[in-house]
Amino acid sequence: MQPLGSINTTASANDERFDGMVRLICAHFAVPACVLVAGEGRTRRIWASAGLSDTQRRQIADAREAGPLAEIQHLRILVVWPLLACQGGQFGCLYLLDESHRLLDASQEQALQEFAWLALDLLEREAKDTRQRHELAALRESERRMALAIAGSGTGIWDRNVSSGEIHYSSSWKALLGYADHEIGNRIEESYTRVHPSELDYVRATIQAHLERRTDAYEVEHRLLCRDGQYKWVCSRGKVVERDSDGQPLRMIGTTTDITAIRRLSDQVQQTVELMTDLTNEIPGMVFQFLRPLQGESAFTYVSAGAQAICGLSATQLMQDAQALTTVVHPDDQDAFLDTFTRCAEQLTPWHHEFRVQVPGREVVWCEVEACPRRQGDGSVLWHGFMTDVTERKQIEAELQAFATTDFLTQLANRRHFMRQLEIELARLQRSSGQSAAILMFDLDYFKTINDRWGHNVGDQALRHFATILCAQLRKSDTAGRLGGEEFAVVLSETDQQQATHFATRIQSELARTPILHAGEQIFLAVSVGISSLTANDSNVEAALSRSDIALYCAKRGGRNRIEYH
Ligand code: GH3
Ligand code: MG
Ligand code: MG
Repeated sequence: MQPLGSINTTASANDERFDGMVRLICAHFAVPACVLVAGEGRTRRIWASAGLSDTQRRQIADAREAGPLAEIQHLRILVVWPLLACQGGQFGCLYLLDESHRLLDASQEQALQEFAWLALDLLEREAKDTRQRHELAALRESERRMALAIAGSGTGIWDRNVSSGEIHYSSSWKALLGYADHEIGNRIEESYTRVHPSELDYVRATIQAHLERRTDAYEVEHRLLCRDGQYKWVCSRGKVVERDSDGQPLRMIGTTTDITAIRRLSDQVQQTVELMTDLTNEIPGMVFQFLRPLQGESAFTYVSAGAQAICGLSATQLMQDAQALTTVVHPDDQDAFLDTFTRCAEQLTPWHHEFRVQVPGREVVWCEVEACPRRQGDGSVLWHGFMTDVTERKQIEAELQAFATTDFLTQLANRRHFMRQLEIELARLQRSSGQSAAILMFDLDYFKTINDRWGHNVGDQALRHFATILCAQLRKSDTAGRLGGEEFAVVLSETDQQQATHFATRIQSELARTPILHAGEQIFLAVSVGISSLTANDSNVEAALSRSDIALYCAKRGGRNRIEYH
């Protein structure tokens, strides 16, 4: 039982039942006044009284305890009878007052006790009623708040009687579609007329599945017709809350939420995604996102459609298996491909690399990859990158390179490139001890005469002819160059004087054996050769070349078509 002191006793202080009771007690005991006091100490309050003036009432009310008070003005207090609850505790008292003092006999005390029980019972009922009134008020308030919250969230509630085919909507449900309370019927058939025709079958089937217990709950997104003729996107959720003994659904309760704004947002997101996908797919190349998580396998998280054209693998294949990319990298480029990526991944620096891709049944293509790593909040690393076919650019680069390094007429190395090759050879010799290379300089004999006699074109033909003969004798490690005019040079690696002389002799005899033909005439060419050695002791290549030049000068002076050694 709740202590009376904790309830608001004033609210019921004018209750007729209590007034009637104290009047009854006065009559029963033939006393002029009686008071019912509820509560103890600070909560002590006069609940009902009979036969007392306001002053007398105040005196009793002010007496915090009943004990010391013996009389009030001309009235004597005959008895202060405690109201004791059966669970223990005193909840007030009954005062009997009379003009003169007298004692109550046993039967009167018994009667007073019964009155006390009656009073206590009434007070307890009153306390219970008050408590229930409070609880009800609190419940109403919470219900009101919930209704406001639901309405504010754009949600309405419905309650469907499955067997009778009736459905009841909350006011907020009706308001959701712009209807007033009385403007909407309660038949389930009518509710289906508001569902957008293209979603009707789907909505019906989803509800049916739940009614037949194939799903735990019912949830479906669809459009509903509003009062103004527009459709609104809603999310409808529901659950059967009552079934009969055969499991047939009886009652279903659910909510309908306006998701128009969410749909609009998700449509926008979808459009953005489509735009991004279209853009990346239209780019001639492969756009990708690659994730290396803290734990587990690294993987492509996005690959554009261009992957197929570049590496013969679909975007899906690559996203399922990132390793598949390495398998199409040209075997000669695989080490560099993995090394450069690993280095960039360790240092988190941009990855820029060129490599060849070899897809079975296709020509080898050159690819360039650029990717930027970014460390994520969770410690993983995310790359955004782009892979593109640069075969054409590589071809142009190769052509430009050839242009810059070869002599146009003879296709041999030009002077600058020959000197560069000579430097590379010298550096190689300086790294490996005990080896030497030979530098041979060639100058066609009486070449001016050919030009003068048969014309410049024949002179060019002679230069090309000599270059062909020279090339035919070269090994992979040798380099031949045209230094200018009718002057050529060759560097033969790991070649001594004797081997170099043999080489020069072969050139001379081949030249003598194969004259060029012009207008049915045979034109014989001859060449003078100067040879010197290139060793690790050489400080520069120019000095070595000028030694060959000196030897060549000797060959000329010695009568031409000769070989001289420096
Ligand atoms: P030597 O036996 O002393 O070497 O006499 P030479 O006539 O071969 O030498 P010279 O230096 O007198 O003449 C070289 C000639 O080569 C002069 C030049 O017109 C010619 N010449 C230089 N470059 C070219 C070229 O690209 N094409 C043609 N057809 N002739 C060239
Ligand atoms: Mg010359
Ligand atoms: Mg010459």
